[in-house]
Amino acid sequence: MQSIPILVYHSVGSSCASAYRRWLVTQRELDSHLHALSDRGYRAITVGDLALLRRSAQPVPPLTCLITFDDGLSDFAEGAMPVLMARRFSATLYVVSGLVGATARWLADLGEGSRPMLDWAALRNLQKAGVEIGAHSVSHPELDTLSWAKATRELRDSKKALEDGLGRAVTTFAYPHGYASRATRRIAEEAGYLAACRVRHALSDETENLFALSRIVVTSDMTAEALVDLIEKQQVPVAPPVDRLIATGWRAARRVRALHRSVFPRR
Ligand SMILES: [Zn+2]
Repeated sequence: MQSIPILVYHSVGSSCASAYRRWLVTQRELDSHLHALSDRGYRAITVGDLALLRRSAQPVPPLTCLITFDDGLSDFAEGAMPVLMARRFSATLYVVSGLVGATARWLADLGEGSRPMLDWAALRNLQKAGVEIGAHSVSHPELDTLSWAKATRELRDSKKALEDGLGRAVTTFAYPHGYASRATRRIAEEAGYLAACRVRHALSDETENLFALSRIVVTSDMTAEALVDLIEKQQVPVAPPVDRLIATGWRAARRVRALHRSVFPRR
């Protein structure tokens, strides 16, 4: 069975608050990653492409990889896009629909609450240049701590807002914070998405649940060699089962935290 690496980046730039540092790679680092992948013959497709291949039972070509970017920060346009174009890699960009043209408010705890987000004109240009725009919720909450109704709104409304703003169907979703309970995955399916991505230190494959696609987070400390080793030397699992006890423990802890926040809202 072929393993399929799906990478997730966040910010591509040169400076940020120290607490956010691991989520930022420089343009040069991104270029070295893509260079190493193309040297080994990897070609990128979008998550939408992968969903269509998988749903029509067509094989995923050998040496396929996927490059995704979460959040919709404005540095995607000036930091990531030139590198993607130069290396001829397609990509999927997951956008927080309620903060288009605003700032990454949910990153306030990491000192990056005023990091600028892409605006509609920039998103339309990126789409024209071949980037798949996917949804990443309306406000970047921890979805599985919300009620069914609230979580449904986050998934449905972000899809609709992006489709209205961009004039094209939005078919894939990335769960904010990377987690998805069984209920959240069902909501994604019912909202009309074809596939959804989580974050898991694992490779995907052709049998993995389309609403729980594993992605590997690329952080600032990852060299191109380490990244290639990770993908090719099976240093990470392939398509691990969706639910594990450890995930359940995490969810419980986060539910308590969310409850605490609603009782003692942050100012
Ligand atoms: Zn995110």
